[in-house]
Amino acid sequence: MRLLDGKPIARDIRAKVKEQALAYRANGVIPTLLIIIATEDEQAAWYVRSIRKAAEACDIKVHLTELSADAPTEMIADALRAAAIDPMVHGILLQTPLPAGVKIDELLSIIPPQKDVDGASPISAGRLLYGQAAFAPATAEAVLTLLDYYNVLLPGKQAVVVGRSRIVGRPAAHLLLERDATVTICHSRSSDLPVSTRTADVLVVAAGKPGLITSADVKPGAVVIDVGTNVTDDNRLVGDVAADVAGIADLTPVPGGVGPVTTSLILQHTLTSVSNLLATAQALQH
Ligand code: NDP
Repeated sequence: MRLLDGKPIARDIRAKVKEQALAYRANGVIPTLLIIIATEDEQAAWYVRSIRKAAEACDIKVHLTELSADAPTEMIADALRAAAIDPMVHGILLQTPLPAGVKIDELLSIIPPQKDVDGASPISAGRLLYGQAAFAPATAEAVLTLLDYYNVLLPGKQAVVVGRSRIVGRPAAHLLLERDATVTICHSRSSDLPVSTRTADVLVVAAGKPGLITSADVKPGAVVIDVGTNVTDDNRLVGDVAADVAGIADLTPVPGGVGPVTTSLILQHTLTSVSNLLATAQALQH
């Protein structure tokens, strides 16, 4: 069965992003991604480091706003408001987890859709649902990007998504539906998960539970996209899908599957945002 490697896709996307970023820099525009982090969570810190490294390798500047892990909603809101109106900032990421008690929906709503490069705000989500211009959450888009790269046809296929979070499961299900798959969404209250997952031609697993899906839960010949990223006690990164699935289905590796594509799409969105913001500024001048 095929190993659905994300690395060549990420390489292609980043090469184009770098080329565009250099062209903007030559014209005096420095593509800039602002990341706000207010947690001491090690996995979040690792994620931010990896985005920063990838961005800088593509000549995108990263501005990191580090707030304390007990920052109140208003402090994070101020940082977001400043970034929202700063013409030097093209993309904004609000890293989770956030301090306990902060009002995340209120904060995400401050990010203007034009700069919402991870499609995290309720406005972006609504626009996506209504087919209007918006950035999709990068992880959900990465799922579709992998399926397209490996020529997986979707119309009429049974797609099952395990996980219903607003940032991964739901938008992935929506994008699959937009591509004419017949979509089932499962979650922690689904009564018989294997009965559903075994119907899938395309199975997307985004539960954050290592080993949740084994070969007994997968139809032979299916395509399985493992979104899960879990850190084991001995500090390894593993997905939600057990290794034995690779014997009967096409499978994305973890690490090296969805992750690098997701990061690359955030960078690609940042460049799209540069282009959109410059076009808007030019239109306002005329
Ligand atoms: P959340 O914790 O927000 O959502 C997890 C979802 O999985 C929930 O809908 C939950 O159901 C469901 N779930 C949990 N346990 C089970 C179970 N036993 N059976 C069926 N469904 C279950 O996580 P995220 O959506 O943010 O992330 C999911 C995974 O993807 C994580 O491992 C995360 O680290 C990873 N991730 C990877 C990215 C990448 O780029 N590779 C980017 C973003 C996330 P319920 O709603 O009922 O609680």
